[in-house]
Amino acid sequence: MKNTTMNAIVFESEGKLALKDVAIPSIQNPEDVIVEIEVCSICGTDVKIMDVPPGYAAKPDVILGHEIVAKVVETGNKVKYLQKGDRVVVNPNDFCGVCHFCLNNMPNQCETINALGVFTDGGFAEYARIPEKILYKIAPDLSARKAVFAEPLACVINGMEKIRVMPGDSALVMGAGPIGLLVVQLLKASGVSPIIVSEPSKLRQEFAQKSGADYVIDPRVDDPASFCQKVTKGGVDVVIELVGSQIKPAIQAVRKGGNILLFGLNTQVEPEIPQSEIIFKELTLYGTWIANASFSKAVKILEEDILDVESLITHTFPISKVGEGLDLLRKGEAIEILVDPKAV
Ligand SMILES: [Zn+2]
Ligand SMILES: [Zn+2]
Repeated sequence: MKNTTMNAIVFESEGKLALKDVAIPSIQNPEDVIVEIEVCSICGTDVKIMDVPPGYAAKPDVILGHEIVAKVVETGNKVKYLQKGDRVVVNPNDFCGVCHFCLNNMPNQCETINALGVFTDGGFAEYARIPEKILYKIAPDLSARKAVFAEPLACVINGMEKIRVMPGDSALVMGAGPIGLLVVQLLKASGVSPIIVSEPSKLRQEFAQKSGADYVIDPRVDDPASFCQKVTKGGVDVVIELVGSQIKPAIQAVRKGGNILLFGLNTQVEPEIPQSEIIFKELTLYGTWIANASFSKAVKILEEDILDVESLITHTFPISKVGEGLDLLRKGEAIEILVDPKAV
């Protein structure tokens, strides 16, 4: 008999995670697609969801996991473009398509956005139910270990499109977690030089070096602003901040007229903002939030093998070890952790 239940990692309540046997999802709406999960990676957002107090709110009893590569196993009768056997990645932020922001090409700002793996069941499971409009087909031969970077890369591209770095520009990247490392790889591929990375963790420093950083500094030893001033004579062209609290050193490190991209999210802090320096230096600051129409580009970059994303994978775990993976990430002892339902 066919299985009717599956293993899944469920967020129960503040700080509590459980491995559960739950019903395999079935088609509920005609636009639904049932997918079999190939891999799902653990994101910094998952760590924040599990923090006590939570750094990011999730719905109790939801299956976590939103960086998904999967195979289509069943389609609802209004599914237009996908069929059984297609491989897909997922934009986990389901948008309504009709609110003011959706109609103005900002589905990431949708008024009723529904985050998969946060508010509705996600990918730390064997199967998931996902509406067709947030699925992106990938090439049959794109490995799951590369495709799993589509979601974080789509978020990175959304940010990079705002600052429009050019070949020959210099950059400071503050924070070298998985997102920061993707930024470094993308800057390198775009001809940016020098790329200066500020990161306290030894492990992440090593990965920054391997990902193409020209200089890697420990901000507790070297002040990022004076280092950037010294290396670039006048400050870097762009700063990409992936920490969530470093706006002040970012403003000090950028050149006059430069751009700052605020990407890292930390809702627990209210950093000091040197407003007068923004004026004197005529700076432009951008905030960037999740992905926006950037999935196709992310998939294309992965299919064309422009980056070395696989080098960022440090662990592959079965579903039962998601908790262990979260701990490793929290302690800074891992970079990219894949969760493979078929792994043992
Ligand atoms: Zn994520
Ligand atoms: Zn909307």
